[in-house]
Amino acid sequence: MKIRTRYAPSPTGKMHVGNLRTALYEFLTAKHAGGDFMLRIEDTDQERFVDGAIEIINRTLEKTGLVHDEGPDKDGGYGPYVQSERVKTGIYMKYAKELVAKGEAYYCFCDKERLASLKTEVVEGKEICMYDKHCLGLSKEEVEANLAAGKPFVIRQNIPNEGTTTFVDELYGEITVDNAELDDMILIKSDGFPTYNFANVVDDHTMNITHVVRGNEYISSSPKYQRLYDAFGWESPVYIHLPLITDENHKKLSKRSGHSSFEDLIDQGFVSEAIVNYIALLGWSPEDNREIFSLEELIKEFDYHRISKSPAVFDIVKLRWMNGEYIKAMDFDKFYEMAEPYLKQALTKDFDLKKIANMVKTRIEVFPDIPALVDFFEELPEYDPEMYTHKKMKTNSETSLQVLKDMLPILEAQEDYSNDGLYATLCKYVEEKGVKNGYVMWPIRTAVSGKQMTPAGATEIMEIIGKDETLKRIRKGIELLENA
Ligand code: GLU
Repeated sequence: MKIRTRYAPSPTGKMHVGNLRTALYEFLTAKHAGGDFMLRIEDTDQERFVDGAIEIINRTLEKTGLVHDEGPDKDGGYGPYVQSERVKTGIYMKYAKELVAKGEAYYCFCDKERLASLKTEVVEGKEICMYDKHCLGLSKEEVEANLAAGKPFVIRQNIPNEGTTTFVDELYGEITVDNAELDDMILIKSDGFPTYNFANVVDDHTMNITHVVRGNEYISSSPKYQRLYDAFGWESPVYIHLPLITDENHKKLSKRSGHSSFEDLIDQGFVSEAIVNYIALLGWSPEDNREIFSLEELIKEFDYHRISKSPAVFDIVKLRWMNGEYIKAMDFDKFYEMAEPYLKQALTKDFDLKKIANMVKTRIEVFPDIPALVDFFEELPEYDPEMYTHKKMKTNSETSLQVLKDMLPILEAQEDYSNDGLYATLCKYVEEKGVKNGYVMWPIRTAVSGKQMTPAGATEIMEIIGKDETLKRIRKGIELLENA
């Protein structure tokens, strides 16, 4: 049996971390087994439809490399792949009528007023109105007369009041609920559209889906799905409900946690491959403790049996670290292309940007880290002369002042402002004085950068800013130390 999975998003907005994880796990479940991955757009809920949402889904899947084998743009013989188009084929009505004929569903003509008068129950914190099967009592003739008179109707599933329904989830095992808890849910709405739950089941079956991977917010509706499969006499797919994703405070990940949509993360300077790699580990882990995986490697390693049931914490610190690893491993040209706009944000003078890019490549976690790391090249920041004091380097304001004063005329005379040339000059002074390297490098670097941490050493910085600027900054350092 060929495994067939589907990503079945409702186009209701951005593609959040949880949505992307579902898509990724669906994709990996299929690809790991040499199966097919399908994209189906679940847009029957017209009220929740958001313009542009389908484009976001397409862009995100393309950018992350989750290529579908079948979908709205790629017919695989199971189309249409957009539910609103499937509605037009009459498929949902046909199957709903099949259930009516079997006594597994019935027409309901109750109006709003009557429904509002029904008792409500609180289930899982939500107020739910359990339909009282009033219209199940209508005779065939009454139903036909109502239909002939054009009375608005819905079609409801007929769930027995007795007995239980059991479905199996691959991770959570067998789950059984009392039928009395299940509402006679609407299958076809009064506008003729199927409800999301009904369309989902009809489509998974008619599109030959073998494995359904989705967030565990769907686990409570799964008995209803199971009842539909049973009513039709269909075999249900393998269900894999994924653990919740929480934020650092173990609260459900929300839009308010900020960093939760794929495109937001891209805007925040994360690399697509790193996001995918990180998300793969939100609920799944390999046998060893390995953490860095390309998509190809994930396909090889991913086994849905290793998905965990415990909530996964979306840890932005960890994602930043992982992103840094991806940036380090990135080919330089690609890195430069992505880094250039951030370099240009901080640097307007005529610098060798490629050289600076090379300095920061191993030191950033996300691209927006770049400006703050390099802005001192553009302009010497205000800094505290205390910075000249460094215990390990055995420097303080006096030793530093001496070094700067000694070096100033040497650097004024120096013609060669290449890193190598400058380094040789500084080393010569180190040797003559019989001191440690840092004793000289620390104050010089402090003077030319005004920073405690820089992406490069003193002479590399001097090479970039050039002779005039170097001398200006050394003089400034002397002035600061003399006044300290
Ligand atoms: N359309 C549903 C959603 O966007 C998918 C549910 C499922 O995968 O079965 O959440």
